[in-house]
Amino acid sequence: MRTLRTRLVVATLVPVFLVTATLAPIFWSNIQNRTEYSRVAAEALLEAEYDVLLQDMNESLNHSLAIAEFPSVVGYLSDAQTTRSPYQETQFQQTRKQLGDMLNTLLTHFGRYTRLALIDADGYERFSTQGSRSPAADPIHAEALYFREAMTLKTRSLYVTSPHLGPGAAGPETTTLVMDITTPVFGREGERLGVLLVTLDWHSMATSLPHAAGTNPHAQALLVDAQGNSLLPTESAAMPFGSSLSTQWSDAWQAMASSNRGEALFSGDLLLFRTYDIRKHHYRSQAEQVLGFPGTQPWRIGITVPRPGLTYLLTESPWTAVLVVLVYVLAIAFGIVWVLSNHHQQRLRARAQQLSLEAKDTARELTDLYQQAPCGYHSLNEHGVITRINNTELRWLGYSADEIIGKQLYRELVTPETREAFDAAFRQVLGEDHEGSAECELMCRDGSTFPVAIEATAYKTSDGFQYSRAMVFDMTERQKLEELLISQAMTDPLTGLGNRRYLENQADMEMARARRSGEPACLIGIDLDRFKNINDRYGHDVGDLVLQAFAQTAQAELREGDILCRMGGEEFTVLLPNTNIEQATLIAERLRKTIETTPVDVGTDVIDGGQLAYTASIGVTNIYMVENSLKPAIKRADQGLYKAKEGGRNRIVME
Ligand code: GH3
Ligand code: MG
Ligand code: MG
Repeated sequence: MRTLRTRLVVATLVPVFLVTATLAPIFWSNIQNRTEYSRVAAEALLEAEYDVLLQDMNESLNHSLAIAEFPSVVGYLSDAQTTRSPYQETQFQQTRKQLGDMLNTLLTHFGRYTRLALIDADGYERFSTQGSRSPAADPIHAEALYFREAMTLKTRSLYVTSPHLGPGAAGPETTTLVMDITTPVFGREGERLGVLLVTLDWHSMATSLPHAAGTNPHAQALLVDAQGNSLLPTESAAMPFGSSLSTQWSDAWQAMASSNRGEALFSGDLLLFRTYDIRKHHYRSQAEQVLGFPGTQPWRIGITVPRPGLTYLLTESPWTAVLVVLVYVLAIAFGIVWVLSNHHQQRLRARAQQLSLEAKDTARELTDLYQQAPCGYHSLNEHGVITRINNTELRWLGYSADEIIGKQLYRELVTPETREAFDAAFRQVLGEDHEGSAECELMCRDGSTFPVAIEATAYKTSDGFQYSRAMVFDMTERQKLEELLISQAMTDPLTGLGNRRYLENQADMEMARARRSGEPACLIGIDLDRFKNINDRYGHDVGDLVLQAFAQTAQAELREGDILCRMGGEEFTVLLPNTNIEQATLIAERLRKTIETTPVDVGTDVIDGGQLAYTASIGVTNIYMVENSLKPAIKRADQGLYKAKEGGRNRIVME
């Protein structure tokens, strides 16, 4: 479970890493392109800003120079400074009116000036489009720098102030942002007559610069003087007029102050800038020399555009953000699905491996069971050749697998006496029955034999018979047990003699043989005398001893082949094969006598001397071959016995 969690974490991190690695260069190059595009656009705007400013200023300089050289302007200023006769005064006033009309017409025509004024060499304002104060008034311009500088300038030279609040177009009562331009006025002989003052409407000029047109909505313009003070009217610029760039955006100011031209990247902005110096940048104008208010030149024009970044790209188009999120989600989902399916497969593989191990174990166990089974297993092909045989049967037979597999006909391992049974069973297996069984004997390598029971079935497929497979049971033990049971069933446990069943069994065989050979056979019946008395006097155990002793004594007296059996109680029978009645009578008599003279050793604690004598009565009879069973003979012997008892016991009677 822990490895699954680790894998899921990896499955999340790897797609995130891969997607990031894929997207990062795309975004990076996109940002680069956007930055480059912004830079180009900003640069175009910067150049346009500079060009328009340069052109407008040049025009204003040219206008000022041209006006200063107008003959009417020169003539008026010259006349204004001479003493005039009354006639001349009338002329002068006419000239003054014409000049006023002309200059007002120019003012209206150019539209960018708020005032034109003529100042004489002493600083008196001799004419102003805004209504001149009396020539007798104070020399109001005498101390002004624009006047004093202009008075020192050579021909075709100008002095320019910095933008400041000044009289508006409607008159001195209204104020607006203005710049004063002054240029000296010289007489026909080159004498210095005074100064022309042109007041430029800086507000209207600055707000008509390209940045104000809104062509690049992201761009913002900066125009500062040499001290970093903003020169653009508040409404059209990034900063309020007069505010200091060095305090408001010191980084930008540092960059702009250190170089004439360049660009700087800030966290959120790209800044392009260049200088504009009125004193020097008046190419293609008529001006020879331009002076500025000390410390104000050069100006610096700047354009700032937002610097495109990742956030900029993502917020620029919501679809990009959605797409990026979708790509991440899909990649992570893919990773997770992959890990989960892999995990599932791994579990299946582990299960399959487990099953395969179990199958191998089972196969090994089955092989072991087959090889070491308590019974024999073998398979035979259709010819009866052994194709497979287990260790148990090999061990019984004493062969190794190599010796017989594929080489040995199984029927040759069966004894010739029982081979017919085997062949019959094998034919059944090959035939319609598909199965067969046989009890036969197998021959071991060492020549010994043992009984087996074989049960075989045919293994058949759609192609027909494949092989027969058989179970082989070793019947040795069972046979022994059967024999034991049979012998136990036919043996009297007390005396070890055969019992009545045994007698009948033997009698069948003996009578058959006697019938075949024609030899006679006889039967003797024996009953111990007064046996009840023995039991009563000495106990049942002593009676048993007597019975056992009798069995021994009688067996010793009889020939091999004579069959002595206990019929029950103290009654015995002897079957005498190949014996005629005379011989039988002799045997019976001899038996009776031996019994009479052979007392039983019962111990001195039972009887004085320890020897207990006893007798038996015997009936003798022929076994006639015409009789089907022994019963008639037994009956006759019993009759003889009865007679012997009647006759006083301890005697034989032939019946
Ligand atoms: P008879 O001379 O007429 O044959 O007299 P008997 O006492 O021998 O005859 P009876 O048939 O009256 O008695 C047989 C006795 O044998 C009775 C029974 O208790 C005894 N007996 C039978 N089987 C056994 C045995 O296995 N052991 C002992 N100890 N006694 C047995
Ligand atoms: Mg009896
Ligand atoms: Mg008896």
